Amino acid sequence: MDCKEVQRCIHLFLKDELDGATAQKFVEHVRSCSECMEELTIEYLLLEGINRLENADDIDVQSELEEKLDRILKRRKIQMQFKAGLFLAAYLLLCIFLLGGV
Ligand SMILES: [Zn+2]
Repeated sequence: MDCKEVQRCIHLFLKDELDGATAQKFVEHVRSCSECMEELTIEYLLLEGINRLENADDIDVQSELEEKLDRILKRRKIQMQFKAGLFLAAYLLLCIFLLGGV
């Protein structure tokens, strides 16, 4: 994913509308590209900051954004593990089925 793509995806990312694989690439890119990270931080601030100012909460946008990025990577990891688990379960069922059929 290049900078242009990432910047096109920022809005979708903030609305949690990216699919798992795209979100992962997105996070990996912003983690290694200070320009896109800056862009993302500004967009996040605009989106979250305004809501928050109305509630007069303290905002620590930087660390919240970091948490959000971490969450996405963790969720992606769990998704992958889940898929691997499903595959294994399907494989075991197939083996049982085949053995049972003999
Ligand atoms: Zn970039």
